[in-house]
Amino acid sequence: MEEMRYQLDLLKAMNQKLSIKERMYRLICDSTTNAFLYCSFEKSEVVTLGRWSDYFDFEIKDIKELTRLTEAVEASYSLALRDAIYTEKSGSEYASLECPKKGSKTWFKFQVRIIYDENKRPTDKIISIDNITKIKFQNDELTYMAYYDTLTGLYNRNYFVRLLGEFVRAASDNNSIVSVMMLDIDDFKKINDSMGIVVGDEIIQQFGSYLKEFSNEHLIVCHMSSDVYCIAISDPVGAHSVEQIYNRIKKRLKKPFVLSDGRSVELDVSFGVAEYPEASTNALELINCAEIVLFNGKRLGKNSIQYFNSRVLSDFINSVEIEKKLKEAIFNSNFILHFQPQYYIGDNKLRGVEALVRWRDGDNGMISPAVFIPIAEKNGAIIPIGNWVVEQSIKQYAEWSKKYGVHFIMSINISALQCSREDFVNGILSMIDRYSVNPSEIELEVTESILIDDFDAISGKLSKLRAHGVRISLDDFGTGFSSLSYLKRLPIDTLKIDKSFIDTVLTDSSTRIITESIISMVKTLGYEAIAEGVEDERQYRYLDSIGCDVVQGFLLGKPQPPEDIESILGNMQ
Ligand code: C2E
Ligand code: MG
Ligand code: MG
Repeated sequence: MEEMRYQLDLLKAMNQKLSIKERMYRLICDSTTNAFLYCSFEKSEVVTLGRWSDYFDFEIKDIKELTRLTEAVEASYSLALRDAIYTEKSGSEYASLECPKKGSKTWFKFQVRIIYDENKRPTDKIISIDNITKIKFQNDELTYMAYYDTLTGLYNRNYFVRLLGEFVRAASDNNSIVSVMMLDIDDFKKINDSMGIVVGDEIIQQFGSYLKEFSNEHLIVCHMSSDVYCIAISDPVGAHSVEQIYNRIKKRLKKPFVLSDGRSVELDVSFGVAEYPEASTNALELINCAEIVLFNGKRLGKNSIQYFNSRVLSDFINSVEIEKKLKEAIFNSNFILHFQPQYYIGDNKLRGVEALVRWRDGDNGMISPAVFIPIAEKNGAIIPIGNWVVEQSIKQYAEWSKKYGVHFIMSINISALQCSREDFVNGILSMIDRYSVNPSEIELEVTESILIDDFDAISGKLSKLRAHGVRISLDDFGTGFSSLSYLKRLPIDTLKIDKSFIDTVLTDSSTRIITESIISMVKTLGYEAIAEGVEDERQYRYLDSIGCDVVQGFLLGKPQPPEDIESILGNMQ
C-alpha cells in the first residue's frame, strides 16, 4: 500500500512536471510567429502549436489524429503543407500559397525535422511554418533594384556593365563584334525646365519602353542616367545592325510622343557608337568610348550619330589634360590679356580694343583660347577666368585712359555661363564703378548662342546693362542661327560679322550678297557694323564700299600685349 501510494505520488509529481513542461513548450511556441505541427507516428497523434490560426483557415488545429490530418490535408489546397507532411527528409522548403486569411499571395518557409528510431523508422516529425512574405518581397525588391532602373524598368548601369562583359567574353571566343550605342535626348534640360520634371520623367519612361522593345538575346537596353540610354548589340549584323536599329529609332522619332495629359512632344536624339574590339576590349571602357563620341558629336551638332575613332579619343584625352591644367592655371593666375585694335574705316581712327585672353602654360607655351575656352565653358572654369578678364580689362582701360587721356572702347568677350549667373549684371556694374570708368566705353561681346537658351532672361539682363550705358556687341554673327528677322529684337549696339564671311567675301558671290544684306539691315536698325578677321587691303576697300563701319583684323593689328597697345595710345595724344 505504502509502495502504491509512493508510486502514485511519483506519477502525480511526474505528471505535474510534464504539464509544466508542456505549458512551457506551448508558451514558447505561441510567443513565436511560427506555426508548428507535431506528428507522432508511433501514437498516430497530431499536435498543433504556435500561431496556426494566423496561417490557415481549415480546421487542422482541431485534428488530433494523424489519419484525420491526412484526409484534411489531402482535401486542402495546401500542396506545400501536404508535401511537408509526407516528406521523408528533414530540411527546408519554400513555397508560395494563396492564403485566404490574408487574401493575397503569401510566402511560407516549411522546415521539417524527423526523428528516427534505432531501426531507422520515423517516429516523430515536427514541421515549423514561417511566414516570410515580407522578407521575400524585400529581397525581390532588392534584387530588382540591383538589376533594374525603377523609372524605366530597363536594366540599370551596373547590371548592363555585367551583361556587356558577358557579350564581350562571348565575342572574344567567337571572334565577333559587340556594338555599344549610347543615346541622349537632345535639349532634355529645356523640356524638363519648360514642362516640369514629372513630364520629363514620363518622357524618359516612354522613350525607355519604346527602346525596351528592341531587347532580345542579341540586344540589351539600359537606362544609364537621366536622359541617357545605352544599347549593347552582340554580333551586330542584319536586322540588329547598328544602322538598322538607328534607322528604326529615327523613324519612330519622326512621330511625337503623346503624354498622359494629351500633350505631345517631339524628341531629337543623339547617338554615339563604339565597338568591341576596335574601341576597347573592356566593357566599361566601351561605354566610356561611346559616351565620349556621343558628347563630342553633340558639341558639333545635335541629332546625329557619331562613330568612335582614335582621333576622337586623342582629342578627348587632350581636353581632359587641358581641363586638369586649367584648374592649376586658375590657381596660379597663368592668364594674360592681349588686345586687338579695332579701327573706323576711312579715317583709321582707333575705335577700341578687344581683350583676348591668353593662357601661358609652362609645358606648351601659349594655349589658344579657341582650345581652352570651350573646355572652360563646359566645366565652369569660365566663371573665375571670365571674372578675371572682366576686372583686368576694365582696370587696364581705367589706367590707359587716365595715363593717355584718351577715350575708346574696351570690348570684353562674355560666355553664356557668365551671363546666366544671377550676379552677372551687378558684377559688371560694380567693376565699372570700382575703376570709375564710363560705362559707354565698356562693351560686352556676346554670341547668339547666349540668347538661345533663354532669350527673355538674357536679353533682359543685357537691356539692364545697356540702360546703364554699357555697350553690347553681337559677336561671330553668321555662325549661329543668324536670323535677320530677329536682329531687331536684340538689345545690341554693334554687330560683328564673322571672319568666315570676310574670308570669302571677294571670291564667293553668295557670301557677298549675304554680307551686303547684313550690312544694310544693320544700318537700317541703327547698329554699328564691325568686320572681323580682315587680312588684306582688298577686303578693307570692299568693306568700305559697302558701308561697314569698323574693321578688326591682322591687316591693321594682331592681338598684342598691353605694352604694344600703349605705343598706339601714346601716338594718339
Ligand atoms: P572672337 O571673340 O571672335 O575673337 C576674334 C578671334 O579672331 C581672336 O582669336 C583673334 O585673334 C582672331 N583674329 C582677329 N583678327 C584675325 C585675322 O585677321 N585673321 C585671323 N586668322 N584671326 C584673327 P583668339 O584670340 O584665338 O580668340 C578666339 C576666341 O576665343 C574668341 O573669338 C572668343 O570667342 C574667345 N575668347 C577669347 N578671349 C576670351 C575671353 O576673355 N572670354 C571669353 N568668354 N571668350 C574669349
Ligand atoms: Mg570677340
Ligand atoms: Mg568673333
